[in-house]
Amino acid sequence: MAKRDYYEILGVAKTATPDEIKKAYRKLALKYHPDRNPDNKEAEEKFKEATEAYEVLSNEQTRARYDQYGHSGLGQGGAGPHHYENMDDIFENFSDIFSDLFGGGGRRRQAKKSGPTPARGHDLSQNIEITLKEAYMGCKKDIKIYRLNTCQTCKGTGCKAGSKPTTCATCKGQGTVHFQQGFFAYSQPCRDCNGQGFTISDPCAACRGQTRIQQHEKLSISIPAGIFNQAELRISEKGDAGIFGGPAGDLYVAINIKSDPVFSREGNNLITTLTLTYPQLVLGCQIDITLIDGSTESLKIPKGTAVGKLITIPGKGFINLQGKDRGNLVIITQCDIPTKLSEESKKALLDYAQKLDDQGSKPSGITGFFKKFLG
Ligand SMILES: [Zn+2]
Ligand SMILES: [Zn+2]
Repeated sequence: MAKRDYYEILGVAKTATPDEIKKAYRKLALKYHPDRNPDNKEAEEKFKEATEAYEVLSNEQTRARYDQYGHSGLGQGGAGPHHYENMDDIFENFSDIFSDLFGGGGRRRQAKKSGPTPARGHDLSQNIEITLKEAYMGCKKDIKIYRLNTCQTCKGTGCKAGSKPTTCATCKGQGTVHFQQGFFAYSQPCRDCNGQGFTISDPCAACRGQTRIQQHEKLSISIPAGIFNQAELRISEKGDAGIFGGPAGDLYVAINIKSDPVFSREGNNLITTLTLTYPQLVLGCQIDITLIDGSTESLKIPKGTAVGKLITIPGKGFINLQGKDRGNLVIITQCDIPTKLSEESKKALLDYAQKLDDQGSKPSGITGFFKKFLG
């Protein structure tokens, strides 16, 4: 019988990327997986065929040989692809492919159970909002969480004091029941114990045998100075407690930094604008400005400062999260343009305009011809 083309088996183009080949194989592996096709010889053959194709095409060298010479290029015996007789060998050889299918290991293997198995609890997440100043200085925040705690009455056993879980008689503690049909054995979760392998006949009254109780809890969280927007803090073991006394998951706190009306942030730099009057810009001045932490800084504006000039104050930005360097404070100058003027000011301004004219000030950019003042 002529061998089918490997690309055709996987249903991919000859130009398929390694990733496409892997995806195609995973799809087929899921479709023809023996756990999904119990007692199906044809599915098993298809599974093996796809595995062989994947083995050749996932390897750069064998793929190149196959592309050039076809099946005959792969040689016989040791040099050629495996012909898998045993399905378990496939799962072993391709464990990277199957590790996340069917709950790990590729195949539902029957773990020997001996009573309740503690499992890790789920992670929880919560958002908190802080101000830019709090992000700059670092802060402490109290939050309220709602999490599953290990039941203190039964200490996570789920049983009333003095009682124990009973091994399930149906599955003898395995959690699964096995069937045999012809040559094929397959299994399914035990219905009598929900696949747990045991039952609790005398449950703890406080948690009703659930081993955990949902409770509100208050936490105080330290947020480090320099934290970024959308950063996530991991608070270990403040997620849900595990069942049967298993370890708790973690709590992830996502930090949301509110925008500030005065300051904005770019990396570790703080940006702000400073509005000055025209004379202040022209003549230069000394002014005191209030920084984000409330402290005062004396600032010298040199004479002839343009609008939109960046004045950098080094080391007054956000601290690096590692606690070493600081960013800068960048101040952008703006000019305060009054919309209402007293007659006196207006006259002074027009006089001044006249004097500027005499000096012949030259505008940059597009050429304009001044005609008249409107005010
Ligand atoms: Zn059972
Ligand atoms: Zn309990």
